[in-house]
Amino acid sequence: MFAQLPERQMHWVRWILTIGWLLVIASLFYDPWTAALTEPDHPWSPLRISGECVQVQGNCLVEQPYPLGATLFWGAIVPSGILILLVFGHELWRRICPLSFLSQIPRALGWQRQFKRENKKTGKVRYELAKVKSDSWLGRNYSYVQFGWLFVGLCGRILFFNADRLILGLWLLFTIAAAIAVGYFYGGKSWCQYFCPMAPVQTIFSEPRGLLGSKAHVSEQRITQSMCRTVLPDGNEQSACVACQSPCFDIDSERTYWDELNKPEESLIRYGYVGLVIGYFVYYYLYAGNWNYYFSGIWNRDPNQLAALMNPGLYVFGNVINIPKLFAVPLVLGGSTAIGYIIGKFIEKRAKSYSRQHHAMNPDTVRHRIFAICTFGIFNFFFFFAGRPLLRLTPLWVQFGFDVSIVFLSTLWLQQTWRRNPDLYSRESLASRFRKQLEKLQLDVSQFLEGRSLDDLHANEVYVLAKVLPGFTREKRHEAYKGVVREALEEGYVNTSSSLEVLQQMRQELGIPDDEHREVLEELGIEDAELLNPHHQRTLENQIRLSGYQKSLERLMRLQQRQPDLATFDPSQQDSATIRSLRREYSITQQEEDWISSGFAPEVGEVQKAEVLLARLSEWVACDRAFSHLTLHEHQAVLTLLRESVQRKQELIVRSLLETLTTLQDNPNAIAIAQSLKQRSPQLVADYLNREHWQNHLHPEIVQSLTQPEEPLTNSLEFSTQETLSYLEILLQHYNPLVKAAALYLIAQLDSERVQTIAPELRYESHPLIRETAEQLLSLPPSPPLTAFPTLEKLVYLFNSDFFHRIQTETLMALGDRAEVKTYSTGDVITEAGDTCRELLLLLEGDASIHYQLADGVRVERLHPGQTLDELEVLTHSNSENTIIADSEKTRILAISVDAFDDLLDHDPDFARRILELESQQLQRLVKSGQGRIQGT
Ligand code: SF4
Repeated sequence: MFAQLPERQMHWVRWILTIGWLLVIASLFYDPWTAALTEPDHPWSPLRISGECVQVQGNCLVEQPYPLGATLFWGAIVPSGILILLVFGHELWRRICPLSFLSQIPRALGWQRQFKRENKKTGKVRYELAKVKSDSWLGRNYSYVQFGWLFVGLCGRILFFNADRLILGLWLLFTIAAAIAVGYFYGGKSWCQYFCPMAPVQTIFSEPRGLLGSKAHVSEQRITQSMCRTVLPDGNEQSACVACQSPCFDIDSERTYWDELNKPEESLIRYGYVGLVIGYFVYYYLYAGNWNYYFSGIWNRDPNQLAALMNPGLYVFGNVINIPKLFAVPLVLGGSTAIGYIIGKFIEKRAKSYSRQHHAMNPDTVRHRIFAICTFGIFNFFFFFAGRPLLRLTPLWVQFGFDVSIVFLSTLWLQQTWRRNPDLYSRESLASRFRKQLEKLQLDVSQFLEGRSLDDLHANEVYVLAKVLPGFTREKRHEAYKGVVREALEEGYVNTSSSLEVLQQMRQELGIPDDEHREVLEELGIEDAELLNPHHQRTLENQIRLSGYQKSLERLMRLQQRQPDLATFDPSQQDSATIRSLRREYSITQQEEDWISSGFAPEVGEVQKAEVLLARLSEWVACDRAFSHLTLHEHQAVLTLLRESVQRKQELIVRSLLETLTTLQDNPNAIAIAQSLKQRSPQLVADYLNREHWQNHLHPEIVQSLTQPEEPLTNSLEFSTQETLSYLEILLQHYNPLVKAAALYLIAQLDSERVQTIAPELRYESHPLIRETAEQLLSLPPSPPLTAFPTLEKLVYLFNSDFFHRIQTETLMALGDRAEVKTYSTGDVITEAGDTCRELLLLLEGDASIHYQLADGVRVERLHPGQTLDELEVLTHSNSENTIIADSEKTRILAISVDAFDDLLDHDPDFARRILELESQQLQRLVKSGQGRIQGT
């Protein structure tokens, strides 16, 4: 709600609040005026001293007129902070907090600690902003530091500065000085993120979000919640994020909440806080022996607070317990914090075990709900006490209205928070990304939305819409899904290994098999290898930081009009004071500078990318040729499978290169790239140019260069066994387990000793096919035949069959599990005309013939390996129209029962769709051949 309030206005609000707060602090040191309002004989002030006897440990406290600074601070300012956090969320609090504002003074003045970095090659010196490293002691333990500081602050209140205005003023000034010092030592909002004692309180009341807080993960805005921002002279706002923490509470509090939900410090903070707050208020009773001491508010005007430090700190049931207050306070508050923590952990454990036994909900949701109850409970408990001494001075109806409002607001918050869970967050977040991809596809969705826009749709509705959209073909679905995966990888929301699991729910909604996800990763890896680099840690915060820097540079260049054409601008070569200061401000490293430079000169980046792709294409072309090794010739079926996967790599690279050429147009390097491409892969280039409309998008000279006849790059050299082996070993890294297992099998054919060193490691692979193949290789004699690997053999032949060609590997595996190999001898009848078709047949080995009974006799056709039979009859459950007879001594047939086939069709919509496509192609062929025959007669 407050996230989008203009920063300029908020800046003024911050100034006003900060000045107000500084005045309150100043009044703690010097205030000759407000004490008059508390004089016992003041004619109208509700704050005047009543003369009532407030007992502490059995004795009436003596009251004197007092200045109001401390009363205001503890009685109104602090409680209103908690109320704001729960109702409006951190996104308002962090934008108006005076302490946060003051911590930014060093940044505003440009006085921030920097590290000198010298490029050893060029000797260039650059300065980088200091930030708290996530793996430093502070980066790992800041939650404990903040909670410890909060604990010390609450003990300090009771002991030193509830009433002693001088100490309170000094404490507040010390805190301000500390915030400014942190602002100097570390960039961003490091004070708020790593030090501020209010931060744990903010997370407790504002996570997953405040009652009126915004949902950053579905927002269309680039600047979300209380994210750091600056105002440009034209009034637009721009991110000023330097990625001081990841995940950042200010960017998306709910993401931070779910990310950190299971960290041990979360239980300490949330359960411990409940105990600490209860202990804090109960201590007043334990100290004075009655509640009147607290509710009268006399504790924040006691002129002898410091003098009581060594007095007895506890008075229980009329008995003085002789522990000095100085020790009693930390003992009571520490004890209650520990009890809160222990009870919280105990309840959580019991609730999780109950939930496990009754399969009620997942442990994260259990924890989340206990946290929500804690927040709800402690919020109401807090407001039963906090601010009450002042509130009691108001009419009864005001007090009643306040209490009802607190219960009402916190109940609404609980109701909103109760429904949240990590899956829902992830679902909404992914649906929002998917919605953006749908928008990019520019499909006509208006007829389905009845006046609503895509942005108005809930997560479920977006997926339902995708299912019914007529133009949302399999290709478009692939494109949209790929866009989501790319964005999620760029933001570090997923990485290569976690993406399969995190996006699982979305794939289920869209009917995308896991294999397609792997294909998408493969495609993305070709388009941008950096995206899948496991050593490149990506985070949303870093992405925001870099884009903020990039935008600042663009603006700067436009303003200065030094470079009307940004494409020729290379920031790494620039060294003006402003650019240096921008680099410092956004903490830009040399590597990032280079990366951003390539963004300013996309063509340079594209040429570099093309060179990398050409080198990789050469590798895969060589790999393809290496498969011509003589020893492998007798393993054609396995070889075909591997060749397909290598050719797919080549296709992807060629496609990516053609896309690069469309970007480069008449760039001087484009012709050379086109020629290299043509030399390396003439056939694929010709196929693409004929099949798709590349010619319309490429520059005419490029088209000419790609289409003119030219000698392909030939390599007459035979590949040695070692070279062939090295290419096969590359395929052991392939994402597809079938390709991996096939490569392993061929390695065993080439070098049985080598396979004995590779296979033991692969026995622990997660995929059963690879484990099984590796174990069989270790137990079989050298160069075993494919028949010794029943699962692999079935999959290889299914893959090579015309009917199942290019079906997802998972589906092939499911078919393989349901298939059976049958062996026949010469003359055996495999199926007979008139029999009900119970099986779909695929010839693996040997010969067989099909005997068609025609009106004028019998027509015999040979069945060739890889051909499927009776697929139409299996689909329609009809009778066989021909007889199939085995023609060789060992004829092996792979049989898939009609029930297994139907079962798979029912459970795999993608398979069903594919079969439908195949069958319609088959029918078209039949119809055409029928027409041909009729015309021929
Ligand atoms: S991560 Fe960025 S947005 Fe978040 S506090 Fe740090 S600088 Fe500000």
